[in-house]
Amino acid sequence: MSEHGFETLAIHAGAAPEPTTGARALPIYQTTSYVFEDADEAAALFNLQTFGNIYSRLTNPTVSALEERVATLEGGTAGVAVASGHAAQFIALHTLMSVGDEFIAANKLYGGSITQFSTTFAKMGLTCHFVDSSDPENFARALTPKVKAIFVESLANPGGVVTDLEPVARIAADAGVPLIVDNTLATPYLCRPFEWGADIVLHSATKFLGGHGNSVGGLIIDGGKFNWAAEPGKYPALTEPSPGYHGLRFYETFGDFGFAISCRAVGLRDLGPSLAPFNAFLIATGIETLPLRMQRQCESALEVARFLDGHPAIEWVSYAGLENDPHYDLARKYMPKGAGAVFTVGLKAGFEGGVKLVEGVEIFSHLANIGDAKSLVLHPASTTHRQLTPEQAAAAGAGPEVVRISVGLETVEDLIRDLDQALSE
Ligand SMILES: *Cc1c(COP(=O)(O)O)cnc(C)c1O
Repeated sequence: MSEHGFETLAIHAGAAPEPTTGARALPIYQTTSYVFEDADEAAALFNLQTFGNIYSRLTNPTVSALEERVATLEGGTAGVAVASGHAAQFIALHTLMSVGDEFIAANKLYGGSITQFSTTFAKMGLTCHFVDSSDPENFARALTPKVKAIFVESLANPGGVVTDLEPVARIAADAGVPLIVDNTLATPYLCRPFEWGADIVLHSATKFLGGHGNSVGGLIIDGGKFNWAAEPGKYPALTEPSPGYHGLRFYETFGDFGFAISCRAVGLRDLGPSLAPFNAFLIATGIETLPLRMQRQCESALEVARFLDGHPAIEWVSYAGLENDPHYDLARKYMPKGAGAVFTVGLKAGFEGGVKLVEGVEIFSHLANIGDAKSLVLHPASTTHRQLTPEQAAAAGAGPEVVRISVGLETVEDLIRDLDQALSE
C-alpha cells in the first residue's frame, strides 16, 4: 500500500471494505470485548503470542484502522491511538522513563504540554529540562546521564516557529536517546519527521487530523529505527523481562515495533486512556480529506497573514510562510507544501488589543482549539497560557499582546473582512 500517493493512503490505509457485510465506510465496533474461539486462543492472546482483540482498552478494530492509517501516513512501523494528545505524551514518556529520569524539551510548546511536563510529571519523579530550541546546540548542552528523550514540536504551538529537526535529531542520536516529535500542527501532509531523524512521532488528533473540532484523541507512532538495547538497562521497559507478561522482552520479541507494543500492552493496559471507537471513526473519516484541507488552509493562512502583516493595528506577525519571517527558510526545508494554518500576531494595543480582537470577530470563533474547518482565534495570555509564569509565557511565544489565529476553510475574503472590522472597531 505504501507505494501509493499520500492522498490515496489518507483514504484507504487501514480500512478495506468490511468482509462480512460489505460495508464500505469504516464500521464503528462499539464493543468492549471479543469472543475467544477456545481457551488456547484466549491464553495465546493474553500472552501476546498471537495478535487479536481481547478488550477495547487494549485494541478495537475501528481504533486499529485509525492507527494503521496514521502510521502509514507518517512512515512509521506501528501506531497506538489514545484518548488525547496529552495521553500520547504521557504514555510515550512513561514507557521510556522511570522515577528519577530526565528529558529535554523545547521551551516553545503547546501551553498544556509545558504544564504537564513541569508540574504533573515532576510529581511523578520525572524531570523536564526546557531549552531555547532556536539554537539546536542547547539540547546538547542540557544532556545529562539521566536524560532518556528529547521532545520538540515540528511546528510549534502557539505559532509560527519551525524546529530545525535535522541537527536536533543528530544530537539525540549521538546521545543515544530518541527524538520525540509532536507533529500536531504540521501533520504528515506538511512534514514527515521520521525522514529527518525522529524516532517517535506524537499527535493530538483533536486538531488537523480529525479536522472538524468534534473529537479529542491522540496517537503515538513508532519509527522503528531506534536501538533500545544499545546501552544495557537504559530502557528497561523495552529490554528487560516484563513482569506483567511472564518475562517477555518487548524489544527482543517485537523488534521494530516493540516500543509501540509496549505503549499498548503496558501503557494502555495499566494506565488506561484508550480512545473510544466513535472518536476513532470521526478522526479516521476526517483524515480522508486531510490533504485537501491542509492545502487550502495553508493557502488561506498565507493570505490572512499577509493582510495582517500590513495592518496598522498589528505590531508583528509570526508566520513562517512570510518571506521576511525568521523561520521562512526552515519552513521551506521541512514543510515545503505550506507553513501550516496556525500563527500568532502581536497587537500594538497589547493585552487590551488582544481582548478586543477576540471579542470583536464574528466569523472566527473565540475558543481554545486549533485545526478546525472553522476559523478560530485565541488570546493565550488570558486563556491557555494563563497557568504559566510571565517568563514561561513569553518564552513560549504567548506574551500579553499575542493572539493566535487558526485559519479554517471559509471564504478567505470573508475572514479578512472579519478581522479588519474587529481590528478597526
Ligand atoms: C492540543 C495539543 C496537544 C494536546 O492534545 P489534546 O488532544 O488536547 O490532549 C499537544 N500538543 C499540541 C501541539 C497541541 O496542539
